[in-house]
Amino acid sequence: MKQATFSFSVDDGHPLDLRMADLLLRHELAATFYVPMRNREGPPVLQAAQLRQLAKDFEIGSHTRDHQFLNQVPADQARRQIVDGKAALEDQLGQAVEGFCYPGGQYRALHCRMVQQAGFRYARTTQNLRLDAGERPFELPASLQFYPHSRQVLLRNFLCGRHWLKRQAAWRVCATEADWLERLYRLFDHAVQTKSLFHLWCHSRDIDRLQLWQPLDEFLGLVAHHIPARRRVDNAALVEQNLVWQGQR
Ligand SMILES: [Zn+2]
Repeated sequence: MKQATFSFSVDDGHPLDLRMADLLLRHELAATFYVPMRNREGPPVLQAAQLRQLAKDFEIGSHTRDHQFLNQVPADQARRQIVDGKAALEDQLGQAVEGFCYPGGQYRALHCRMVQQAGFRYARTTQNLRLDAGERPFELPASLQFYPHSRQVLLRNFLCGRHWLKRQAAWRVCATEADWLERLYRLFDHAVQTKSLFHLWCHSRDIDRLQLWQPLDEFLGLVAHHIPARRRVDNAALVEQNLVWQGQR
């Protein structure tokens, strides 16, 4: 990559995603919204008309039918969640849905295969501290979540997660910083300097509950300042551009 790339994704399809969309449009940033048809944990989801509105400006991906953690149900139920979630979302949008995101970041190898067999082109995980698009289109990682995680949580996540060799550079950048926002800025700066990919993700509901709209607005302003327009991509474009995977599709 000759220049740094920025990708952003928003999970769970909460109605506050419309506020997120306004913020992103103001900064002229691309993003992918991963939407279940219902959230079995209780929070509301976007209605069909709202979804279609969102789809005019952003990529919409699936997040299962009911926001089901796939490794908590038998294989046939997991498959139904993947297949039905795609069909219902496509029905509401009137267009194909190519991206998928594993609820709770929970999945096993068989779920990757199911997602591929269902006709998706890629899937995003919650693996963090990555400054690249990973090795496989059905395990697309991220850099950080916009969330006030403590350094201890991040360390635990780093040590328990896989691919730690590929994540140690980002961890080293983050490890020196106790404040989560400073850590985010520092890692983004590192991605710009090293001309890497910075993939941020969040939940609109968390941003609202923790009153983080202002800090997110400021951060996205910095992103728009440093990343040229053609390097602000959604995840479908990221997958499209990733030459490493071409032999696997
Ligand atoms: Zn989710």
